[in-house]
Amino acid sequence: MEKVKRNVLLNPGPSTTTDTVKYAQVVPDICPREKEFAGLMKGIREDLVKIVHGDLEKYTSVLFCGSGTINIDVCINSLLPADKKVLVINNGAYSTRAVEICKFYGLPHIDLKFPVDQRPDLDIVEKTLKENPDIGLVHITHNETGTGLLNPIREIGALVHKYNAIFTVDTTSTYAMRPINIEEDNIDFCMASAQKGLMSFTGLSFVIGNRAILEASKDFPKRSYYCNLYLQYECFEQTGEMHFTPPVQTIYATIQAIKEYWAEGEEAKWARHTRVFNAINNGLDELGFKQVIKPEWRAGLVSSAIYPDDPNWSFEKVHDYCYERGFTIYPGKISTTNTFRLCSLGAIDEDDIKDFFVVFKEALVSTGVQIPVNYKN
Ligand SMILES: *Cc1c(COP(=O)(O)O)cnc(C)c1O
Repeated sequence: MEKVKRNVLLNPGPSTTTDTVKYAQVVPDICPREKEFAGLMKGIREDLVKIVHGDLEKYTSVLFCGSGTINIDVCINSLLPADKKVLVINNGAYSTRAVEICKFYGLPHIDLKFPVDQRPDLDIVEKTLKENPDIGLVHITHNETGTGLLNPIREIGALVHKYNAIFTVDTTSTYAMRPINIEEDNIDFCMASAQKGLMSFTGLSFVIGNRAILEASKDFPKRSYYCNLYLQYECFEQTGEMHFTPPVQTIYATIQAIKEYWAEGEEAKWARHTRVFNAINNGLDELGFKQVIKPEWRAGLVSSAIYPDDPNWSFEKVHDYCYERGFTIYPGKISTTNTFRLCSLGAIDEDDIKDFFVVFKEALVSTGVQIPVNYKN
């Protein structure tokens, strides 16, 4: 096996992969309609449920060919009963995406906004549910990847169930990293894609959820031909296959990635991401960078640093300096503050972060940014 140049990706996915996962894509050509291939997907579907500690009788998973956004689209358009409304609890860019999906499908919805650096106010959430008994589906993002804020899904899920709605949680940037227990966390449906926590490749996304609700959704209005959750589930249950062509090579890589997930173990993997996250925060603190989210509200996977007030600061120049040396940093996703992000996803460890900060500091020095960095207030 030839060694592939190793880049340390500090963007919020796709993440750095192992060479064994990279090479797992190189397989003899196969038609995905062969039984041999359908068998592979059955194993993945079960593993995906086990990763969130779901009981295989009660929970199931459905695979789609697409990037992570397809899951948000699928859940919202498929899980809203007739004559009901969606409530999106919105404190960031990814929940805003869910609101846009409601708009594109013309679905009745409430966009319940909170500031991007704040957790949602549970009293307001409950009041909204109480005053709107026609809310049938509540959607939230677990780790708002735009900022790194962790939302209290277990508490919100309890409220959603108290008012008899379905709870969908975008766990794309926590799944297979920060431990999740689908039942105890009061999640009806969660989601992710292979290129994030699983450290595989883009092209495979999946929704994991409550089988009884999924089966009941057979009678909900069908709003999409390609992206309907029940139709894809039915196809898997009847034939073991996706309705349309699956991402064959990504599926092989993901099988290897799941093997590596079980070999590393949930606890050890989360401990590694936490080490990386702490190393990133210490590095930023030492250089004087301020962050958007207060420490106790961070999900432990995304650090969102504020641009310093230094006339020489240029995100592009610093990015290019690091990129040429094998480290990818990423812009922020907040309209009100200029930020950049450093993420703890992927097959990296704290030594990579030490190496990164050597390069990052060089980039600041070479572009004339004062260290520690300055802020006007
Ligand atoms: C990455 C991500 C997605 C998916 O984005 P794509 O660009 O479609 O892969 C969705 N939700 C969250 C929270 C994410 O972090």
